[in-house]
Amino acid sequence: MTIASNIERIKKRVKAACKRANRSPDEVKIVAVSKLHPVEKIIEAYSNGLRIFGENRVQEAKEKFEILKDYQIEWHLIGHLQKNKVKYAVNIFDFIHSIDSIELAEKVEKRLEKIGKTIKGFIQVKLSEEETKHGVLIEELDNLARFCRNLNYVKIIGLMTVPPYFDDVEKVRPYFVKLRELRDKLNKEVFENSLTELSMGMTHDFEVAIEEGATYVRIGTGIFGERNYDGN
Ligand SMILES: *Cc1c(COP(=O)(O)O)cnc(C)c1O
Repeated sequence: MTIASNIERIKKRVKAACKRANRSPDEVKIVAVSKLHPVEKIIEAYSNGLRIFGENRVQEAKEKFEILKDYQIEWHLIGHLQKNKVKYAVNIFDFIHSIDSIELAEKVEKRLEKIGKTIKGFIQVKLSEEETKHGVLIEELDNLARFCRNLNYVKIIGLMTVPPYFDDVEKVRPYFVKLRELRDKLNKEVFENSLTELSMGMTHDFEVAIEEGATYVRIGTGIFGERNYDGN
């Protein structure tokens, strides 16, 4: 399988899922998750029309970013952001999908103010008990949202989650429904309908995510093939 044919196939499946949900395919953006894949593969995907790339480690992203400076790439941080990496991250990324605490949001805001840059952000919500998953707990979401609402350099545009993996992909649907409901609630109570986005869905479950309202799907394996190891 080539990257070109993978992209074609993913786009067809995105379209089909949109059709089932009565949505326009223009509402769904593909974040090509290039973590642990070399720059050459990013260039290949870029040549085939993709412009949004997702990385989960700041150091790896920094190396790629420097090589690809002249490309019109929108860089998305999809992995956990450690506070000591914020100063590097703000130089690279246009979007951060992993805002999960007041301390982190505050640090990102301060750094952005220093360099006079704004970014778009998602609040990452932890919807499962899994120890390995990052994100703010539902009980603390409202507090974090109210804090983020007042930021000037981090513009929160939606919610993000990484649900557990299920062999039976239908079992993931309630997690996506839940994230959408939380987004809708915050739109009423905190954000005055400015949360337009939902970052949810990966290679094995993006179609269900789209059916439940995803506007950014994060797809690695389906575009670039298998990674050598997990990358989390
Ligand atoms: C790796 C990763 C993805 C992409 O996973 P695939 O199964 O390869 O599509 C999406 N989101 C996050 C947060 C990731 O870490």
